[in-house]
Amino acid sequence: MISIEKDGLKYYQFERLNNLGVRHGFFTRLGGVSPAPFDSLNMAITVGDSNENVLENLRRMFNALDLDLASRYDGWQVHGATVICTDVPRDIRTRTIRTDGIVTDNPDVTLVMRFGDCVPVLLYDPVKKVSAVYHAGWPGTVLQIGQQVVRNMSEVYGCDPADLIAGIGPSIGPDHFVVRDDVRNRFLASFPEDAEKLIFEQDGLIHIDLWKANRITLENAGVTKIDTAEICTVCHLNEWFSHRGDHGKTGRFGVLINFG
Ligand SMILES: [Zn+2]
Repeated sequence: MISIEKDGLKYYQFERLNNLGVRHGFFTRLGGVSPAPFDSLNMAITVGDSNENVLENLRRMFNALDLDLASRYDGWQVHGATVICTDVPRDIRTRTIRTDGIVTDNPDVTLVMRFGDCVPVLLYDPVKKVSAVYHAGWPGTVLQIGQQVVRNMSEVYGCDPADLIAGIGPSIGPDHFVVRDDVRNRFLASFPEDAEKLIFEQDGLIHIDLWKANRITLENAGVTKIDTAEICTVCHLNEWFSHRGDHGKTGRFGVLINFG
């Protein structure tokens, strides 16, 4: 991963996507206008921040990549496994649709999602020119939302999973993702073959590796080119919003992709 600083903002990119000319970014919390505890580049109005602040932060994020804010398509992320395919930007006069995965083949559409510990994943097919973003918190990871996204890319746009480039972004890491028995059991049921690679105990606590779980889901769907940021949001609260690290009172960071 490389980091870029521009106009007070700092964002991270995957080299493999950069080399293909795909504009994308995992934006840190730096360089926005929101006050504490949403300081400062907060992208979510649902956490208590003002609409005006969030709109200005969105503008700054889009400006950093020379993208038009009107090109955006975002969703109302609900920890499900529903995937939407769109060929147009979202009509901002309408309500957002409940979805945790968005796919487009339109180079003029910028896909956007918001995160604060959950795993952000970007996908791009350089052959069919199709991009996707999805939100995999632990519920979405258990539901194997990555499989649904790849299936949509294949069935709707004819993508070959072997052509896809995947990037698993910053999120809560295995060192900090400690869970109760009920969550462990959900992972055991969803990943019966790979549970021992994902779940480990340390000092009597149960840890789960969400990065590896999402990688395995993508691999099982036929994706082979997968990069992982391996940046833990809880370890780096100076750069990332973290629901756990900030004890629930925090913002959400933005992730976007546009291949136009
Ligand atoms: Zn950590």
